[in-house]
Amino acid sequence: MTDSVIDSCLEERFGWISLDFVNTCVVTRSGPVDALRSPALLFQWMEHAEPPGWTSLKPADISAQRTLHIEALNLRVVLDQLFTAHVAGHNPKTTTEHALGRPISWTLASSRLGHSERGTLLVENRYAPLHAAAALGPIAQNAVELIQSVDPARLRRCAAHLCLRWFVDTSKGGRRGWCSMATCGNRAKAARYRARQERDTAEA
Ligand SMILES: [Zn+2]
Repeated sequence: MTDSVIDSCLEERFGWISLDFVNTCVVTRSGPVDALRSPALLFQWMEHAEPPGWTSLKPADISAQRTLHIEALNLRVVLDQLFTAHVAGHNPKTTTEHALGRPISWTLASSRLGHSERGTLLVENRYAPLHAAAALGPIAQNAVELIQSVDPARLRRCAAHLCLRWFVDTSKGGRRGWCSMATCGNRAKAARYRARQERDTAEA
């Protein structure tokens, strides 16, 4: 069970790296499972999700990996507070803002004009670490970009019982309720089906 939850966290994408990151704690039938609960699991997730600059910013030794882990768990809480404030229509608390600004200052970024594989122009961003947990900088930056560009009404927490995952509703009608159809959506459908079956049996 636990391994499959971690696998699904590695596979699922929410269109924003900051959402992928904040959604790494999953509620299952047997309780919450944290896909980032150890430095090794966090490293595995980062290798797979590849946030911008990861190859240049990844920590080289065990002690830096531990620092990255502690800071990652902090950042995940901070992003949750940031998104909650955005949806509620107010500015984040000063403490949230301060905690969000720390990782952003840990990377040194520079840009240059380059070419894609197809030969079209693109801006290449390069990153250099100023801190053991510098790899979190681009994730924090991505969260700021998200609240700048996503309508608060379209940023939503999953409607499933106990699920805390966030998603951006890009559906036409804007009425999507679940973080993922594959997990929460199907579970809710199955629960509704069971309830209907029980009701029909009771009435028969
Ligand atoms: Zn969900």
